Amino acid sequence: MILIVDDKPENIYSLKALLTLHSFPVDTALSGEEALKKILAHNYALIILDVQMPGMDGFEVAESISGYSKSKDIPIIFLTAANTDKKYITRGYSSGGVDYITKPIDPDILLLKVKTLYRLYEQSRKLNEMHDNLVVEVEYRKKAERETSEKAAELRSILESIPQIAFTIRTDGTLEFTNHRWLEYSTSPGHFPPVHPEDIDIQEEVIKAIALQKPVELETRLKRIAGTDYRYHLLRLVPVLENDTIVKWAGTFTDIEDQKQASRRKDEFLSIASHELKTPLTSIKAYIQLLERESKDNSQYKPYVDRALTQVSKLNSLITDLLDISKIQSGKLEFNKKEFDFDAMLKSQLEMTKQNHPDYHLDHHGTTETLVYGDEIRLEQVITNFISNAIKYSPKEKKIVIETRADDQHVHFAVTDFGIGIPKDEQKNLFRKFYRAQGAAPHFQGMGLGLYICSEIIQRHDGSFGVNSEPGKGSTFHFTIPFKKQLS
Ligand code: ADP
Repeated sequence: MILIVDDKPENIYSLKALLTLHSFPVDTALSGEEALKKILAHNYALIILDVQMPGMDGFEVAESISGYSKSKDIPIIFLTAANTDKKYITRGYSSGGVDYITKPIDPDILLLKVKTLYRLYEQSRKLNEMHDNLVVEVEYRKKAERETSEKAAELRSILESIPQIAFTIRTDGTLEFTNHRWLEYSTSPGHFPPVHPEDIDIQEEVIKAIALQKPVELETRLKRIAGTDYRYHLLRLVPVLENDTIVKWAGTFTDIEDQKQASRRKDEFLSIASHELKTPLTSIKAYIQLLERESKDNSQYKPYVDRALTQVSKLNSLITDLLDISKIQSGKLEFNKKEFDFDAMLKSQLEMTKQNHPDYHLDHHGTTETLVYGDEIRLEQVITNFISNAIKYSPKEKKIVIETRADDQHVHFAVTDFGIGIPKDEQKNLFRKFYRAQGAAPHFQGMGLGLYICSEIIQRHDGSFGVNSEPGKGSTFHFTIPFKKQLS
């Protein structure tokens, strides 16, 4: 907006008409004092200022304006009498005015000057705006940079203080930072520590994982540069996120040799204990079976003999599971694979279950009508385990549904119960060694080994397995195996 300041309304009128005609927005003031008030309250792009005014003259107004930071850059066109002494005009310039025009006003010259100054003002206003924005932007970036380097320093000092070998790695896979422990295992901060010759190349694994944006968790053996013995370490690599974007990766190697050895000793103990227990238990079982045969049906000892036999069978199956585990661990779980009639095996299995659990209703659908190439006893063990779990974990609802079918390559088997079910977050762990669902563990006996052994058996038949379950509604455990001999 342009402010016209003149004490004569007729002058204001003609100037206003001229500028409005050329689409300039205009405001007016009839005295220097009124002009000053308006200048403080509004933003003007240009002021046209009559020099000769009663009270405050134009130069005085200009001088005052130049004292305010808000208005000091507003261009001014002074309107002077033709005979105005030059020294007054210079006074006009020195007090911040930028141009003048003599009366009587030539409208073309005035318009020319107005346009030039108006444009100049607009440009300098835009420049100032850009400058202000730039200052804000620079400040913002400086702050972000400061924060990033503070965070990096914080992460580094944490990684220096922990007992693990630690490092950060850029998203292009190059090492960014390594803590002091790194150099106990690697000769250079730019290279991963060498691993045991039989272990996989960790640097390659790390680069692969970064490309796929997947965290890493793997065990590898490292040795100190100065040492000779390799020790197991757990390598963990996780992304460092900023605003949901991966900016780098942080990794650690944790020495887990002691846990590994403890677990190895535990496995050895379980293996020895189960072997040693198996022989006397087999004898005890044989003697009790002998007693059972000898004791008459009406003997007062018959119920005790029966109960002893049941308990011995339980103990026997626990020890068998423990033996299986130690065989899996040592890679000695052997399979005697040949073709067998899957439906017949299942039928006899179901008959036995019905006899042992007459209160349960086993609802069997489907047949496979095919010979399966596999270890019949081991696959029967999986089926028994699924069904006995279904019975065990469904103490109230006594219906169990068993489904079998075959497609052109696979046999599918599933057992559904309507029992306690398993929470979603625990389902993925059920096939792990010694894992028992939290809700079930205190109320049902077990060691958490059955499903682990089943998973091993199915995997050794090139099959797949899984569970669908809903707490309080029941569970379906299923497996699928190819029925033909696999070439491998
Ligand atoms: P165990 O039954 O001896 O604990 P398993 O390996 O057979 O060992 O099963 C592991 C865990 O899986 C069980 O402890 C139980 O929590 C859960 N589970 C297995 N089958 C079922 C089922 N049918 N319904 C509910 N939970 C089950």
